[in-house]
Amino acid sequence: DAKQRRVPHRVYDADLDHHSRERLALYTELSHAIRDGGLTLYYQPKQSLRDGRIVGVEALLRWPHPQRGLMPPGAFVPLAENSELIRPMTAWVIGAAIRQLAAWQREGIVLCCAINLSARNLLDPGLLETIEAALLRYGVTAESLEFEVTESTLMEDPHIALERLSRIHALGARLSIDDYGTGYSSLAYLKRLPVQALKIDRTFVSQVANSPPDAIIVRSTITLAHNFGLTVIAEGVEHAADRDALAALGCDVIQGYLLARPMPAAALSEWLALREE
Ligand code: C2E
Ligand code: CA
Ligand code: CA
Ligand code: CA
Repeated sequence: DAKQRRVPHRVYDADLDHHSRERLALYTELSHAIRDGGLTLYYQPKQSLRDGRIVGVEALLRWPHPQRGLMPPGAFVPLAENSELIRPMTAWVIGAAIRQLAAWQREGIVLCCAINLSARNLLDPGLLETIEAALLRYGVTAESLEFEVTESTLMEDPHIALERLSRIHALGARLSIDDYGTGYSSLAYLKRLPVQALKIDRTFVSQVANSPPDAIIVRSTITLAHNFGLTVIAEGVEHAADRDALAALGCDVIQGYLLARPMPAAALSEWLALREE
């Protein structure tokens, strides 16, 4: 009897063992990739609906893995977020994005670059210094930077979040609320934060042209945001019909596959040059 009951346990333990060994291997490889420059940033442009100009880019992390191929952030950012790797990983992202901004500026390309922050980054007392040191090192001003934080990131510890974001804002960087509409925070709360923009989540954006309820949500979000003096960015715009609907609703900026997919820095320079012709 006792013997029989133990069998499933052993199978389970072996599975768990395998799973945690996999995770440990990935963790070790990720820590090396962070240390040895094995990560890379892709950049996705954002376009003003007013005049069609490219107003900035968002830096999106990729891990070109020798065996697993080009890994999207969903496959390794959570692992970093649940460990102390998030700190050196974000420090690398900040340094790489700012170095790229400096390189673009030398080419005469003036862009604002957005960087994604995780909850743990805001709890890290060293974040501000990391940003300041990288700006100083590459001779870039904070006005070229924007930081994107999700509602849930802010809710982890609203008090510390407000304190940290205020300091980043005081440097001159802009702040935006990412994936807006997926959390439960009210705009009244968000407005107490030094935030300049809202990014409406793709789940609303992708239905805006053919789902009246989604169009109503987007419309009221835009109205409210504008009343608070915030810029509205729609993320994940894939279809011209959605872009047109967003323009009609007064949305300020779009980002998504319709305009361009995230791409390496050199490809983005070429893409910008081709647009100018
Ligand atoms: P996010 O910040 O919401 O970024 C937008 C995601 O949507 C990106 O996925 C982007 O490639 C994708 N996307 C853009 N336009 C479209 C579109 O038209 N259609 C569809 N279906 N998708 C679109 P990606 O690059 O896989 O990044 C996923 C998430 O990983 C990001 O979501 C962000 O939360 C996180 N992430 C990316 N880079 C970093 C980073 O440097 N640090 C941290 N902490 N998180 C990051
Ligand atoms: Ca983002
Ligand atoms: Ca987003
Ligand atoms: Ca997201």
